[in-house]
Amino acid sequence: MNSLVEKLNNNLDILKLHKIKNIYQGYIEYALKEKLSTIEILAYLFDEETTNKKATSLSIRTKIAGFPYVKTFEQFDFSFQKSIDLTVINDLRSMRFVHNAENVLLIGSPGVGKTHLSVALGVDVVRNNYSCYYINCHDLILDLSKAHQENRLSQRIKQFCRHKVLIIDEVGYLPINELGSNLFFQLISKRYEKSSIILSSNKSYGQWNEIFGSSAAAILDRLLHHSTTITIRGESYRIKDKKQFINYLNKNNTQ
Ligand code: ADP
Ligand code: MG
Repeated sequence: MNSLVEKLNNNLDILKLHKIKNIYQGYIEYALKEKLSTIEILAYLFDEETTNKKATSLSIRTKIAGFPYVKTFEQFDFSFQKSIDLTVINDLRSMRFVHNAENVLLIGSPGVGKTHLSVALGVDVVRNNYSCYYINCHDLILDLSKAHQENRLSQRIKQFCRHKVLIIDEVGYLPINELGSNLFFQLISKRYEKSSIILSSNKSYGQWNEIFGSSAAAILDRLLHHSTTITIRGESYRIKDKKQFINYLNKNNTQ
């Protein structure tokens, strides 16, 4: 092998320019045939490397985020949930809330799209180069309780605080005991004014004492201080098709 090629390959390895290493030989042959200039060759190779690096880091951030599924705003039918203000959604999509460490709370009954919208916003967060982590509330409480039991609560809370955005889904579906509520409060307090939380719940704020007991007021106080609440008042999307089917059956039966 030509020693200059060896040296180049070695340097590309050291600099972790793997894409360039894979494609430069073939591309140089093509460039010679097409009489491309050196600057065109360099521009193409570095562009390919940058695109590749961005795609790899996006896929790593998406994997770390642990979304239950990947859904986007483009897949959300806003005409079905008319109670959602698109100006608010567009403002959230600008990532201003992440920059200002503000929270986003989605409130509504089951099936109205809370998880879908939380994940869609999370997908935007990782696309904007921020880190995000998804967890449902029940798993979060179990995780914090275990850490507390094993005397490593502050470490665990620190780990949860490393992510720029934390999505806590399904708050209020299962009861939380006093210790769990207190641990939840500690996590919220640690992130307060430092990094954002996207939270979804089927319970209105007035019902949060049913979830968190005496900690409810303190939790809400921290969460709501800098926040946007999206209250979804529509019907469940899950039963949309079922309803159409029932209407169709009823119509045919009466004919
Ligand atoms: P929730 O978390 O409020 O219980 P989900 O977000 O899990 O509801 O929504 C239930 C299912 O319906 C998901 O598959 C979701 O993608 C879909 N869905 C909900 N609302 C819409 C909508 N407006 N447009 C498209 N899909 C929707
Ligand atoms: Mg949900």
